[in-house]
Parts: sequence; C-alpha cells; structure tokens
Amino acid sequence: MPATPGPVGGPRLSQERRIVTEIPGPRSRELLARQRGLVPAGVGSTLPIFVESAGGGVITDADGNSLIDFGSGIAVTTVGNAAPRVVARAVAQLERFTHTCFLVNPYRSYLDVCETLNRLAPVPGEKRTLLVNSGAEAVENAVKIARAATGRPAVVVFDHAFHGRTLLTMSLTAKNRPYRQGFGPFAPEVYRAPMAYPYRWPSGPARCAEEAAAALADLLDRQVGAENVAAVLVEPIQGEGGFVVPAPGFLRRVAELCRERGILLIADEVQTGIGRTGRMFACEDEGIEPDLLTTAKGLGGGLPLGAVTGRAEVMDAVPAGGLGGTYSGNPVACEAALGVFEEIETHGLLARAQEIGDLMLGALDALRATHPEIGEVRGRGAMTAVELVTPDGSRSPAPELAARIAGRCHAQGLLVLTAGSYGNVLRFLPPLSIPDELLKEGLEILAAAFAEETTGPSA
Ligand code: PLP
Repeated sequence: MPATPGPVGGPRLSQERRIVTEIPGPRSRELLARQRGLVPAGVGSTLPIFVESAGGGVITDADGNSLIDFGSGIAVTTVGNAAPRVVARAVAQLERFTHTCFLVNPYRSYLDVCETLNRLAPVPGEKRTLLVNSGAEAVENAVKIARAATGRPAVVVFDHAFHGRTLLTMSLTAKNRPYRQGFGPFAPEVYRAPMAYPYRWPSGPARCAEEAAAALADLLDRQVGAENVAAVLVEPIQGEGGFVVPAPGFLRRVAELCRERGILLIADEVQTGIGRTGRMFACEDEGIEPDLLTTAKGLGGGLPLGAVTGRAEVMDAVPAGGLGGTYSGNPVACEAALGVFEEIETHGLLARAQEIGDLMLGALDALRATHPEIGEVRGRGAMTAVELVTPDGSRSPAPELAARIAGRCHAQGLLVLTAGSYGNVLRFLPPLSIPDELLKEGLEILAAAFAEETTGPSA
C-alpha cells in the first residue's frame, strides 16, 4: 500500500476508499459465520467487516477493502486510529509494566491524566479526578459520589438519554429496546424529565427551553422533592438518543435550578468530550459549569479509560476504599490518554473539529434543501446528524429509510452509524485525522444514497 499518511499520522495507510469485494466480503462473511457460533447474539455489529488496520480517515478489512470512517468506533478514535503519540506512549508503557493496580501501587501517569483533566474540565474551583474503565463506570461512579456527598438518593435524568448498559446506567437510559427490555427490575430512585428537544417539542422550538425547564422544576419540587435529589444528570448533546442539541439556554436553566436547590449537576461528556464538538468539552459552548463531569471514549484514544472529574469537596466526600477497581486507570490506558492530549495540542484538533463541522453541516444543509425526508440537520463540530422523517410534514420518524441509506453507504464503502430514540437518525463521527478529500467523498456517497432511496429531487 502506498505510504501516504493522513494529515495527523496514524498507520501509514493510503488515504483512499478502495472497494474490491462486496461489503462485507467473503473473508469477513466467513469470520461472521464463525462469530455466530462463538459470541452471543446480543452482541451485534453495525457493519461486520473484520478490521485489519485503521488510521487517518480509513478502515481496511480482511478482504482488502478500504472504507471511509464516519464512525470513529462510536466517537472513540477522535485523534485518529492508532495515532502516533498514543501508540508510542502505550508501547513504551507496555514494555515497562502492564499493571500494578493503582489501589496497591500507584504510578505517575495516572496523576498526569488527572492533572490534565482537572486543568481542562469546566468544573468550578479545586478539582479531583477518578479514573475508571468505561463510560458506564464513569457515570455509575459520578452517581455514587453525588449520593455520598449530598446524602440524598434520587437521580433525575432526561428523555432520550443514554448512559450505559450496567444495571444503574441502563436504569438511567431512556430507550427500552434494545437497552432495557427483559433486563429489569431496574435500579430505584431514577426519575425522568422531558428533554428540551427543539425539533419535537409539542409547542415548537421557541418555547422549548422555557417549558422543558418548567417541567424539570415541577419534577424536582413537586414530584420527587428537591431535598431527595442528589443529582441531575445530562448529556450536553445527547449521543445515542440522536445527537439532540438541547434548545439554547436550557442547560443554563438546568444548572440554575440545581444550584438553587443544592442539587449536583453531572454532565455526561462520554460522547461529546475530549474535542469531539470543537471544544474540549461541550459544556463550554453553553457556558455551564457542572459539579461533576464524566468522560471516556475519546479519552483513551481506543484504550479503555473513563474518568469522573469533579469539585474537590464533592469528590472527597467518599472515604478511602469507596472508589476504584482492579484495572481502573490502567497504566497503558493512562499513557494512551496523555498521547491523546498531545495529539490534540500538536495538531490543533479543536479547530479541526470546528472545520469538519462547518464542512459537514454545510453539505448536510444543502442535502436537506432538496430532500424533505431530512427533517433536521444538527450537531456541533465533528458530531453531526440528520433526522429522517416521512416527507408529508407530519415529522413521523423514518427508521427504515435511515437503515436503507446506511446500508447503501456501507455497500459503497462509507461507514455511517444510526442513532435516535426512533432509530431514524444518521450520525456522523469522523476522526479528526480524516483528510478533507475523504470527508467530501463520504458526503457525495451519502448524497447519492439519498438520491437512490428517496423519491424527491436528487442533490
Ligand atoms: N454515556 C454516554 C453519553 C454515552 O454515549 C455512552 C456510550 O455510548 C456511555 C455513557 C457508556 O459508555 P461505555 O459504552 O464506555 O460504557
């Protein structure tokens, strides 16, 4: 393969789409058949091409295909797959030691990650950071800490939220299938408020922030009792729920309602954080300062790492031994995270995320102008989406159309993901290392898929 690295490096993969078999090809299909006899059916794959290598803006598979990556392993390889500084640091650490358990013998890189997150997170005052293994574990720990710090049991979450697949986090998650069905009974003391979802707000987007804030206040004061509420937990842009960008001003109202009642605000930035939206954290765009902030995904550059960063007096409310885990803050993952921060800094990746956002939102808006099936284009930075509806003005969700368009993109060698409470959102999460040519080519494939799957005029 020609040695042309992407703009941010990564494996020296040719930055081109190259389709040499049907997708998935025969080798991938063989491996998928093997998977079916080995792995439970509950573990699904969006596009079962078996991966050989990935970097820049491409993923190559067992059949020799090279696909354009608009997924980043669900918002994980934000700085690029196998990014050079991530790999170099992780490899060097693997050769020094692989594990001690931070609870037994600590090591410096854990502190370096915490110091970086404490410096960057928009949490007010003195801060502390706890490292864990995943997004769900970060959210679980944020709730544990909030309960310990306030002495209150209840947690308030929002419609369309996704917070993970463990017992507590699936209880916090809104969507029944496939995340909750059959897995109950659920964790108690979880209450759900409507999300300020402008496109689907019954009285229209103009009143959305105000009415959703009033509904939250009513839930806190009248239904649950504010004195029982430890925390309100919110994604600043909802991820699995369909990249729902809350109505402007809503998050600030949520923060005020919490502050007035001594309730802690937890921002779940597992999907939005670490540069994805063009800022280090999406909270910065709204000017909100949560008491606790969770990260994972992009933090470890592909290695499993999550974190809770919070106000020192809140974080320190849990006595020694109450937090941590055998693998939490693994030294290889910590070095990888330090490599992620270096990649962001060295390559100006926050600005790159904004550039990608401008390019993608422009192209998606143009597509919407000729396709009434696109009800809304939304997102920020390298986290954008289109919500698909029936073209009759009713805004009825069109999940089958989303699935068909995703399928066409996959067949053409463009990896896109779906999302949304109604399964009708196509979401785009390219790595920030993707070259512009591949972004544009991906958008052309998407436009062609719309032209083929819809009856309206083509783009
Ligand atoms: N919180 C948010 C906002 C997420 O998007 C996700 C995963 O998609 C999680 C939590 C759970 O993270 P993990 O899959 O690492 O447990």
